[in-house]
Amino acid sequence: MTDLAAQPRPQSSPLVTAQAQLADAVAILGYDHGLHRMLATPRREMNVAVPLRRDTGEIVLFTGYRVQHNISRGPGKGGLRYSSSVDIDEVRALAMWMTWKCAVVDVPYGGAKGGVTIDPRLYSPAELERVTRRYTSEIMPIIGPERDIMAPDIGTNEQTMAWVMDTYSVNLGYTIPAVTTGKPLTVGGSLGRPTATSRGVVHAAEAALGDAGVRLDEVSVAVQGFGKVGAPAARIFAESGARVVAVSDEHGGVHNPDGLDVSALLRHVHAGGPVHEFPGGAAVDNVALLGLDVDVLVPAAVEGVLDADTARQVKARWVVEAANGPTTPEGDEVLAERGVVVVPDILANAGGVVVSYFEWVQANQAYWWTEHEIAERLEHRMLASYRSVAAVAQAEGISMRDAALTIGVRRVAEAHLIRGLYP
Ligand code: NAD
Repeated sequence: MTDLAAQPRPQSSPLVTAQAQLADAVAILGYDHGLHRMLATPRREMNVAVPLRRDTGEIVLFTGYRVQHNISRGPGKGGLRYSSSVDIDEVRALAMWMTWKCAVVDVPYGGAKGGVTIDPRLYSPAELERVTRRYTSEIMPIIGPERDIMAPDIGTNEQTMAWVMDTYSVNLGYTIPAVTTGKPLTVGGSLGRPTATSRGVVHAAEAALGDAGVRLDEVSVAVQGFGKVGAPAARIFAESGARVVAVSDEHGGVHNPDGLDVSALLRHVHAGGPVHEFPGGAAVDNVALLGLDVDVLVPAAVEGVLDADTARQVKARWVVEAANGPTTPEGDEVLAERGVVVVPDILANAGGVVVSYFEWVQANQAYWWTEHEIAERLEHRMLASYRSVAAVAQAEGISMRDAALTIGVRRVAEAHLIRGLYP
Protein backbone atom coordinates (compact mmCIF):
# COMPACT_ATOMS: atom_id res chain seq x y z
CA MET A 1 0.00 0.00 0.00
CA THR A 2 1.26 3.47 -0.81
CA ASP A 3 0.41 6.60 1.18
CA LEU A 4 -2.26 7.56 -1.36
CA ALA A 5 -3.88 4.14 -1.16
CA ALA A 6 -3.97 4.35 2.64
CA GLN A 7 -5.72 7.72 2.75
CA PRO A 8 -9.35 7.66 3.93
CA ARG A 9 -11.81 7.97 1.06
CA PRO A 10 -13.95 11.11 1.10
CA GLN A 11 -17.53 11.31 -0.20
CA SER A 12 -17.91 9.82 -3.65
CA SER A 13 -17.41 11.76 -6.84
CA PRO A 14 -16.09 10.58 -10.21
CA LEU A 15 -12.56 11.68 -9.28
CA VAL A 16 -12.72 9.99 -5.87
CA THR A 17 -13.91 6.81 -7.60
CA ALA A 18 -11.18 6.98 -10.25
CA GLN A 19 -8.45 7.64 -7.66
CA ALA A 20 -9.74 4.83 -5.41
CA GLN A 21 -9.72 2.41 -8.34
CA LEU A 22 -6.15 3.43 -9.23
CA ALA A 23 -5.09 3.01 -5.58
CA ASP A 24 -6.50 -0.54 -5.59
CA ALA A 25 -4.61 -1.40 -8.79
CA VAL A 26 -1.38 0.15 -7.47
CA ALA A 27 -1.73 -1.88 -4.26
CA ILE A 28 -2.17 -5.10 -6.29
CA LEU A 29 0.81 -4.22 -8.53
CA GLY A 30 2.97 -3.19 -5.54
CA TYR A 31 4.12 0.11 -7.10
CA ASP A 32 5.88 2.72 -4.97
CA HIS A 33 4.59 6.13 -3.96
CA GLY A 34 6.44 8.03 -6.72
CA LEU A 35 5.07 5.88 -9.52
CA HIS A 36 1.60 6.06 -7.97
CA ARG A 37 1.80 9.87 -7.94
CA MET A 38 2.90 9.91 -11.60
CA LEU A 39 -0.02 7.69 -12.56
CA ALA A 40 -2.51 9.64 -10.44
CA THR A 41 -1.58 13.10 -11.72
CA PRO A 42 -2.71 14.58 -15.06
CA ARG A 43 0.16 15.36 -17.37
CA ARG A 44 -1.37 18.58 -18.68
CA GLU A 45 -4.55 20.59 -18.04
CA MET A 46 -6.03 23.58 -19.79
CA ASN A 47 -8.77 25.74 -18.35
CA VAL A 48 -10.32 28.24 -20.79
CA ALA A 49 -12.98 30.95 -20.80
CA VAL A 50 -15.55 30.44 -23.56
CA PRO A 51 -17.53 33.62 -24.21
CA LEU A 52 -20.66 33.32 -26.34
CA ARG A 53 -22.63 36.04 -28.11
CA ARG A 54 -26.18 34.68 -27.88
CA ASP A 55 -28.63 34.96 -30.77
CA THR A 56 -30.22 37.82 -28.82
CA GLY A 57 -26.91 39.73 -28.69
CA GLU A 58 -26.42 39.05 -24.96
CA ILE A 59 -22.91 37.85 -23.95
CA VAL A 60 -22.57 34.86 -21.61
CA LEU A 61 -19.43 33.16 -20.41
CA PHE A 62 -18.74 29.44 -19.97
CA THR A 63 -15.73 27.55 -18.65
CA GLY A 64 -14.09 24.85 -20.72
CA TYR A 65 -11.45 22.26 -19.87
CA ARG A 66 -9.13 19.83 -21.60
CA VAL A 67 -7.20 17.38 -19.45
CA GLN A 68 -4.49 15.11 -20.83
CA HIS A 69 -4.12 12.58 -18.08
CA ASN A 70 -1.38 10.55 -19.72
CA ILE A 71 0.40 10.63 -23.09
CA SER A 72 3.11 8.02 -22.53
CA ARG A 73 1.67 5.46 -24.96
CA GLY A 74 0.59 7.92 -27.65
CA PRO A 75 -1.52 11.03 -28.18
CA GLY A 76 -4.27 11.92 -25.75
CA LYS A 77 -7.66 10.50 -26.70
CA GLY A 78 -11.02 11.28 -25.22
CA GLY A 79 -14.46 12.73 -25.54
CA LEU A 80 -15.82 16.24 -25.28
CA ARG A 81 -18.73 16.63 -22.84
CA TYR A 82 -21.28 19.45 -22.76
CA SER A 83 -23.18 19.30 -19.47
CA SER A 84 -23.97 21.55 -16.54
CA SER A 85 -22.27 18.95 -14.29
CA VAL A 86 -18.87 19.43 -15.97
CA ASP A 87 -16.08 20.65 -13.67
CA ILE A 88 -12.35 20.13 -13.64
CA ASP A 89 -12.52 17.11 -11.32
CA GLU A 90 -15.11 15.32 -13.47
CA VAL A 91 -12.93 15.90 -16.54
CA ARG A 92 -9.85 14.65 -14.66
CA ALA A 93 -11.66 11.44 -13.70
CA LEU A 94 -12.90 10.83 -17.24
CA ALA A 95 -9.41 11.50 -18.64
CA MET A 96 -7.87 8.99 -16.22
CA TRP A 97 -10.40 6.31 -17.19
CA MET A 98 -9.53 6.94 -20.85
CA THR A 99 -5.86 6.25 -20.09
CA TRP A 100 -6.57 2.81 -18.63
CA LYS A 101 -9.22 2.03 -21.27
CA CYS A 102 -6.88 2.72 -24.20
CA ALA A 103 -4.23 0.56 -22.55
CA VAL A 104 -6.65 -2.32 -21.79
CA VAL A 105 -7.73 -2.60 -25.44
CA ASP A 106 -4.16 -1.81 -26.49
CA VAL A 107 -4.74 1.15 -28.77
CA PRO A 108 -1.71 3.47 -29.03
CA TYR A 109 -3.17 6.39 -27.13
CA GLY A 110 -2.96 8.06 -23.79
CA GLY A 111 -6.06 9.34 -22.04
CA ALA A 112 -7.69 12.77 -22.26
CA LYS A 113 -11.09 14.40 -21.83
CA GLY A 114 -12.67 17.76 -22.44
CA GLY A 115 -15.76 19.53 -21.31
CA VAL A 116 -17.68 22.77 -21.27
CA THR A 117 -19.99 23.60 -18.35
CA ILE A 118 -23.09 24.22 -20.42
CA ASP A 119 -26.53 22.65 -20.74
CA PRO A 120 -26.65 22.29 -24.54
CA ARG A 121 -30.45 21.90 -24.54
CA LEU A 122 -30.80 25.57 -23.64
CA TYR A 123 -28.91 26.90 -26.69
CA SER A 124 -29.62 27.06 -30.41
CA PRO A 125 -27.53 25.10 -32.94
CA ALA A 126 -25.90 28.37 -34.06
CA GLU A 127 -24.98 29.19 -30.44
CA LEU A 128 -23.56 25.70 -29.89
CA GLU A 129 -21.50 26.08 -33.06
CA ARG A 130 -20.01 29.33 -31.74
CA VAL A 131 -19.28 27.75 -28.34
CA THR A 132 -17.60 24.79 -30.02
CA ARG A 133 -15.49 26.92 -32.35
CA ARG A 134 -14.36 29.25 -29.55
CA TYR A 135 -13.56 26.36 -27.20
CA THR A 136 -11.60 24.63 -30.00
CA SER A 137 -9.63 27.74 -30.87
CA GLU A 138 -8.75 28.26 -27.17
CA ILE A 139 -7.36 24.72 -26.79
CA MET A 140 -5.70 24.63 -30.28
CA PRO A 141 -2.15 24.60 -28.88
CA ILE A 142 -2.60 21.24 -27.16
CA ILE A 143 -4.79 19.27 -29.62
CA GLY A 144 -4.03 17.65 -32.99
CA PRO A 145 -3.79 14.21 -34.60
CA GLU A 146 -0.42 13.57 -32.95
CA ARG A 147 -1.23 15.39 -29.70
CA ASP A 148 -4.81 14.84 -28.57
CA ILE A 149 -7.83 13.61 -30.52
CA MET A 150 -11.42 14.43 -29.54
CA ALA A 151 -14.64 12.39 -29.83
CA PRO A 152 -18.31 12.87 -28.86
CA ASP A 153 -19.55 12.29 -25.31
CA ILE A 154 -22.60 13.40 -23.33
CA GLY A 155 -24.19 16.46 -24.97
CA THR A 156 -22.02 16.43 -28.12
CA ASN A 157 -22.37 14.56 -31.40
CA GLU A 158 -21.08 14.09 -34.97
CA GLN A 159 -21.92 17.70 -35.81
CA THR A 160 -19.83 18.96 -32.87
CA MET A 161 -16.89 16.91 -34.12
CA ALA A 162 -17.28 18.37 -37.63
CA TRP A 163 -17.14 21.91 -36.15
CA VAL A 164 -14.04 21.05 -34.07
CA MET A 165 -12.33 19.54 -37.11
CA ASP A 166 -13.25 22.51 -39.31
CA THR A 167 -12.07 25.11 -36.77
CA TYR A 168 -8.77 23.31 -36.30
CA SER A 169 -8.28 22.84 -40.05
CA VAL A 170 -9.20 26.42 -41.02
CA ASN A 171 -6.73 27.77 -38.48
CA LEU A 172 -3.90 25.63 -39.89
CA GLY A 173 -4.89 26.20 -43.52
CA TYR A 174 -5.58 22.63 -44.65
CA THR A 175 -8.02 19.81 -43.85
CA ILE A 176 -6.98 17.59 -40.94
CA PRO A 177 -9.69 14.95 -40.38
CA ALA A 178 -7.68 12.97 -37.80
CA VAL A 179 -8.00 15.68 -35.11
CA THR A 180 -11.40 14.27 -34.15
CA THR A 181 -13.18 10.93 -34.35
CA GLY A 182 -16.90 10.28 -34.39
CA LYS A 183 -17.21 12.66 -37.35
CA PRO A 184 -19.86 12.45 -40.08
CA LEU A 185 -18.90 10.09 -42.92
CA THR A 186 -18.76 12.95 -45.44
CA VAL A 187 -15.76 14.54 -43.65
CA GLY A 188 -13.76 11.41 -42.91
CA GLY A 189 -15.81 9.60 -40.30
CA SER A 190 -15.77 5.82 -40.10
CA LEU A 191 -18.49 3.36 -40.92
CA GLY A 192 -19.61 1.67 -37.74
CA ARG A 193 -18.45 4.44 -35.36
CA PRO A 194 -21.91 5.66 -34.26
CA THR A 195 -22.82 2.21 -32.90
CA ALA A 196 -19.32 1.04 -31.94
CA THR A 197 -19.58 1.67 -28.18
CA SER A 198 -22.95 -0.08 -28.01
CA ARG A 199 -21.82 -2.99 -30.17
CA GLY A 200 -18.78 -3.40 -27.92
CA VAL A 201 -21.03 -3.41 -24.84
CA VAL A 202 -23.06 -6.27 -26.33
CA HIS A 203 -19.87 -8.19 -27.25
CA ALA A 204 -18.63 -7.79 -23.66
CA ALA A 205 -21.99 -8.87 -22.24
CA GLU A 206 -22.12 -11.89 -24.53
CA ALA A 207 -18.62 -12.94 -23.49
CA ALA A 208 -19.41 -12.59 -19.77
CA LEU A 209 -22.65 -14.55 -20.14
CA GLY A 210 -20.78 -17.18 -22.16
CA ASP A 211 -18.40 -17.75 -19.24
CA ALA A 212 -21.45 -18.90 -17.26
CA GLY A 213 -22.80 -20.98 -20.14
CA VAL A 214 -25.63 -18.50 -20.80
CA ARG A 215 -26.63 -17.11 -24.21
CA LEU A 216 -27.88 -13.64 -25.06
CA ASP A 217 -31.21 -15.00 -26.23
CA GLU A 218 -31.81 -16.44 -22.75
CA VAL A 219 -31.55 -13.20 -20.77
CA SER A 220 -33.57 -10.13 -19.84
CA VAL A 221 -31.87 -6.73 -19.93
CA ALA A 222 -32.50 -3.27 -18.44
CA VAL A 223 -30.69 -0.26 -19.93
CA GLN A 224 -30.42 3.05 -18.05
CA GLY A 225 -29.80 5.93 -20.49
CA PHE A 226 -31.20 6.09 -24.01
CA GLY A 227 -28.64 8.29 -25.75
CA LYS A 228 -25.86 7.62 -28.25
CA VAL A 229 -24.74 4.53 -26.29
CA GLY A 230 -27.88 3.26 -24.54
CA ALA A 231 -30.33 3.42 -27.46
CA PRO A 232 -28.23 1.42 -29.99
CA ALA A 233 -27.23 -0.97 -27.18
CA ALA A 234 -30.92 -1.69 -26.42
CA ARG A 235 -31.56 -2.22 -30.14
CA ILE A 236 -28.56 -4.54 -30.61
CA PHE A 237 -29.44 -6.53 -27.46
CA ALA A 238 -32.97 -6.99 -28.84
CA GLU A 239 -31.68 -7.91 -32.32
CA SER A 240 -29.41 -10.50 -30.65
CA GLY A 241 -32.42 -12.17 -29.07
CA ALA A 242 -32.23 -10.70 -25.56
CA ARG A 243 -35.47 -9.53 -23.93
CA VAL A 244 -35.05 -5.80 -23.28
CA VAL A 245 -37.56 -5.21 -20.47
CA ALA A 246 -36.72 -1.65 -19.39
CA VAL A 247 -34.98 1.48 -20.67
CA SER A 248 -34.87 5.06 -19.40
CA ASP A 249 -33.60 8.54 -20.03
CA GLU A 250 -33.04 11.31 -17.50
CA HIS A 251 -36.81 11.85 -17.09
CA GLY A 252 -37.59 8.22 -16.25
CA GLY A 253 -38.16 4.93 -17.97
CA VAL A 254 -40.54 2.34 -19.26
CA HIS A 255 -40.82 -1.29 -18.13
CA ASN A 256 -42.48 -4.32 -19.68
CA PRO A 257 -41.53 -7.74 -18.20
CA ASP A 258 -42.57 -9.41 -21.47
CA GLY A 259 -40.06 -7.32 -23.41
CA LEU A 260 -40.26 -3.88 -25.02
CA ASP A 261 -40.67 -3.38 -28.74
CA VAL A 262 -37.36 -1.50 -29.05
CA SER A 263 -37.89 -0.53 -32.71
CA ALA A 264 -41.26 1.04 -31.84
CA LEU A 265 -39.67 2.78 -28.85
CA LEU A 266 -36.92 4.21 -31.08
CA ARG A 267 -39.56 5.54 -33.48
CA HIS A 268 -41.46 7.06 -30.52
CA VAL A 269 -38.28 8.79 -29.25
CA HIS A 270 -37.20 9.98 -32.71
CA ALA A 271 -40.64 11.53 -33.06
CA GLY A 272 -39.90 13.55 -29.91
CA GLY A 273 -41.71 11.41 -27.33
CA PRO A 274 -40.15 10.99 -23.87
CA VAL A 275 -39.14 7.39 -23.06
CA HIS A 276 -41.45 7.12 -20.01
CA GLU A 277 -44.49 8.02 -22.14
CA PHE A 278 -43.97 5.10 -24.52
CA PRO A 279 -47.27 3.19 -24.53
CA GLY A 280 -45.63 -0.28 -24.72
CA GLY A 281 -44.95 -0.56 -20.97
CA ALA A 282 -45.42 0.93 -17.51
CA ALA A 283 -43.47 3.95 -16.26
CA VAL A 284 -40.51 3.22 -13.96
CA ASP A 285 -38.17 5.72 -12.31
CA ASN A 286 -34.42 5.62 -12.70
CA VAL A 287 -33.67 4.23 -9.24
CA ALA A 288 -36.34 1.52 -9.48
CA LEU A 289 -34.95 0.52 -12.89
CA LEU A 290 -31.62 -0.39 -11.26
CA GLY A 291 -33.42 -2.84 -8.94
CA LEU A 292 -35.61 -4.57 -11.52
CA ASP A 293 -35.69 -8.34 -11.67
CA VAL A 294 -33.48 -8.75 -14.75
CA ASP A 295 -30.44 -10.84 -15.67
CA VAL A 296 -28.32 -8.04 -17.13
CA LEU A 297 -28.25 -4.41 -15.99
CA VAL A 298 -26.61 -1.89 -18.33
CA PRO A 299 -26.01 1.57 -16.83
CA ALA A 300 -25.49 3.76 -19.93
CA ALA A 301 -26.11 7.26 -18.58
CA VAL A 302 -24.00 9.04 -15.97
CA GLU A 303 -21.46 8.41 -13.19
CA GLY A 304 -22.15 7.22 -9.67
CA VAL A 305 -25.65 5.74 -10.06
CA LEU A 306 -24.72 2.45 -8.39
CA ASP A 307 -23.73 3.43 -4.84
CA ALA A 308 -24.01 1.29 -1.71
CA ASP A 309 -27.79 1.88 -1.47
CA THR A 310 -28.77 1.27 -5.08
CA ALA A 311 -26.30 -1.65 -5.38
CA ARG A 312 -28.18 -3.41 -2.55
CA GLN A 313 -31.32 -3.31 -4.71
CA VAL A 314 -29.67 -4.83 -7.79
CA LYS A 315 -31.16 -8.21 -8.71
CA ALA A 316 -29.23 -8.63 -11.96
CA ARG A 317 -26.49 -11.27 -12.09
CA TRP A 318 -24.41 -9.18 -14.48
CA VAL A 319 -23.77 -5.43 -14.54
CA VAL A 320 -22.23 -4.34 -17.85
CA GLU A 321 -20.98 -0.77 -17.51
CA ALA A 322 -21.71 1.15 -20.71
CA ALA A 323 -21.37 4.52 -18.93
CA ASN A 324 -18.08 5.73 -17.49
CA GLY A 325 -17.85 5.37 -13.73
CA PRO A 326 -21.45 4.30 -13.00
CA THR A 327 -20.42 2.35 -9.89
CA THR A 328 -18.89 3.96 -6.80
CA PRO A 329 -16.26 2.02 -4.78
CA GLU A 330 -18.92 1.40 -2.10
CA GLY A 331 -21.36 0.17 -4.74
CA ASP A 332 -18.65 -2.11 -6.10
CA GLU A 333 -18.11 -3.68 -2.68
CA VAL A 334 -21.82 -4.37 -2.28
CA LEU A 335 -22.09 -5.89 -5.76
CA ALA A 336 -19.04 -8.09 -5.09
CA GLU A 337 -20.48 -9.31 -1.75
CA ARG A 338 -23.70 -10.20 -3.54
CA GLY A 339 -21.89 -12.16 -6.27
CA VAL A 340 -22.85 -9.81 -9.11
CA VAL A 341 -20.41 -10.00 -12.03
CA VAL A 342 -19.39 -6.47 -13.05
CA VAL A 343 -17.92 -6.02 -16.53
CA PRO A 344 -16.10 -2.73 -15.90
CA ASP A 345 -16.47 0.44 -17.97
CA ILE A 346 -12.86 0.56 -19.17
CA LEU A 347 -13.47 -2.79 -20.88
CA ALA A 348 -17.22 -2.85 -21.58
CA ASN A 349 -17.52 0.57 -23.26
CA ALA A 350 -14.14 0.49 -25.05
CA GLY A 351 -15.72 -0.30 -28.44
CA GLY A 352 -16.05 3.43 -29.09
CA VAL A 353 -12.37 4.14 -28.68
CA VAL A 354 -11.44 1.02 -30.66
CA VAL A 355 -13.40 2.24 -33.70
CA SER A 356 -12.19 5.81 -33.05
CA TYR A 357 -8.69 4.35 -33.42
CA PHE A 358 -9.78 2.71 -36.69
CA GLU A 359 -11.21 6.08 -37.83
CA TRP A 360 -7.91 7.83 -37.02
CA VAL A 361 -5.90 5.14 -38.85
CA GLN A 362 -8.18 5.47 -41.89
CA ALA A 363 -7.98 9.28 -41.82
CA ASN A 364 -4.18 9.22 -41.52
CA GLN A 365 -3.95 6.85 -44.51
CA ALA A 366 -6.86 8.40 -46.45
CA TYR A 367 -8.00 4.84 -47.13
CA TRP A 368 -11.42 3.62 -45.98
CA TRP A 369 -12.42 0.23 -44.71
CA THR A 370 -15.73 -1.55 -45.24
CA GLU A 371 -18.35 -1.80 -42.50
CA HIS A 372 -17.74 -5.55 -42.39
CA GLU A 373 -13.99 -5.07 -41.82
CA ILE A 374 -14.69 -2.63 -39.01
CA ALA A 375 -17.30 -4.84 -37.33
CA GLU A 376 -15.01 -7.86 -37.53
CA ARG A 377 -11.95 -6.03 -36.15
CA LEU A 378 -14.04 -4.46 -33.38
CA GLU A 379 -15.40 -7.84 -32.31
CA HIS A 380 -11.95 -9.37 -32.38
CA ARG A 381 -10.44 -6.56 -30.29
CA MET A 382 -13.30 -6.62 -27.75
CA LEU A 383 -13.25 -10.38 -27.30
CA ALA A 384 -9.45 -10.57 -27.08
CA SER A 385 -9.47 -7.80 -24.45
CA TYR A 386 -12.28 -9.49 -22.54
CA ARG A 387 -10.39 -12.80 -22.56
CA SER A 388 -7.19 -11.24 -21.22
CA VAL A 389 -9.10 -9.44 -18.44
CA ALA A 390 -11.11 -12.54 -17.50
CA ALA A 391 -7.92 -14.65 -17.46
CA VAL A 392 -6.16 -12.25 -15.05
CA ALA A 393 -9.28 -12.06 -12.86
CA GLN A 394 -9.43 -15.83 -12.62
CA ALA A 395 -5.69 -16.40 -12.16
CA GLU A 396 -5.35 -13.74 -9.46
CA GLY A 397 -8.73 -14.27 -7.81
CA ILE A 398 -9.66 -10.59 -8.29
CA SER A 399 -12.65 -8.78 -9.77
CA MET A 400 -12.81 -8.01 -13.47
CA ARG A 401 -12.52 -4.33 -12.57
CA ASP A 402 -9.26 -4.88 -10.70
CA ALA A 403 -8.02 -7.16 -13.48
CA ALA A 404 -8.77 -4.58 -16.19
CA LEU A 405 -7.22 -1.81 -14.12
CA THR A 406 -4.06 -3.76 -13.37
CA ILE A 407 -3.62 -4.60 -17.07
CA GLY A 408 -4.17 -0.96 -18.09
CA VAL A 409 -2.15 0.58 -15.28
CA ARG A 410 0.73 -1.86 -15.80
CA ARG A 411 0.94 -1.08 -19.54
CA VAL A 412 1.07 2.66 -18.81
CA ALA A 413 3.61 2.22 -16.00
CA GLU A 414 5.82 0.09 -18.25
CA ALA A 415 5.74 2.82 -20.91
CA HIS A 416 6.83 5.34 -18.24
CA LEU A 417 9.62 3.14 -16.97
CA ILE A 418 11.04 2.16 -20.37
CA ARG A 419 10.95 5.76 -21.63
CA GLY A 420 12.73 6.95 -18.50
CA LEU A 421 12.47 10.26 -16.74
CA TYR A 422 13.51 13.44 -18.57
CA PRO A 423 15.93 15.03 -17.78
P1 NAD B 1 -25.86 11.01 -24.49
O1 NAD B 1 -25.87 12.43 -24.07
O2 NAD B 1 -26.02 10.68 -25.95
O3 NAD B 1 -26.97 10.17 -23.68
C1 NAD B 1 -27.07 10.17 -22.30
C2 NAD B 1 -28.39 9.51 -21.91
O4 NAD B 1 -28.48 9.40 -20.49
C3 NAD B 1 -29.62 10.33 -22.33
O5 NAD B 1 -30.66 9.41 -22.70
C4 NAD B 1 -30.01 11.06 -21.06
O6 NAD B 1 -31.38 11.43 -21.03
C5 NAD B 1 -29.69 10.00 -20.04
N1 NAD B 1 -29.47 10.49 -18.68
C6 NAD B 1 -28.81 11.60 -18.29
N2 NAD B 1 -28.83 11.70 -16.95
C7 NAD B 1 -29.48 10.61 -16.48
C8 NAD B 1 -29.82 10.13 -15.20
N3 NAD B 1 -29.47 10.81 -14.10
N4 NAD B 1 -30.49 8.95 -15.11
C9 NAD B 1 -30.83 8.26 -16.22
N5 NAD B 1 -30.54 8.67 -17.46
C10 NAD B 1 -29.89 9.83 -17.59
O7 NAD B 1 -24.46 10.42 -23.94
P2 NAD B 1 -23.72 9.09 -24.42
O8 NAD B 1 -22.67 9.45 -25.42
O9 NAD B 1 -24.71 8.02 -24.73
O10 NAD B 1 -22.92 8.72 -23.08
C11 NAD B 1 -23.51 7.96 -22.03
C12 NAD B 1 -22.40 7.40 -21.17
O11 NAD B 1 -21.55 6.57 -21.95
C13 NAD B 1 -21.47 8.44 -20.54
O12 NAD B 1 -21.02 7.94 -19.29
C14 NAD B 1 -20.31 8.49 -21.51
O13 NAD B 1 -19.13 9.01 -20.93
C15 NAD B 1 -20.20 7.01 -21.84
N6 NAD B 1 -19.48 6.69 -23.07
C16 NAD B 1 -19.87 7.23 -24.26
C17 NAD B 1 -19.20 6.86 -25.42
C18 NAD B 1 -19.62 7.33 -26.78
O14 NAD B 1 -19.09 6.83 -27.77
N7 NAD B 1 -20.57 8.26 -26.89
C19 NAD B 1 -18.11 5.97 -25.35
C20 NAD B 1 -17.75 5.44 -24.11
C21 NAD B 1 -18.45 5.79 -22.99
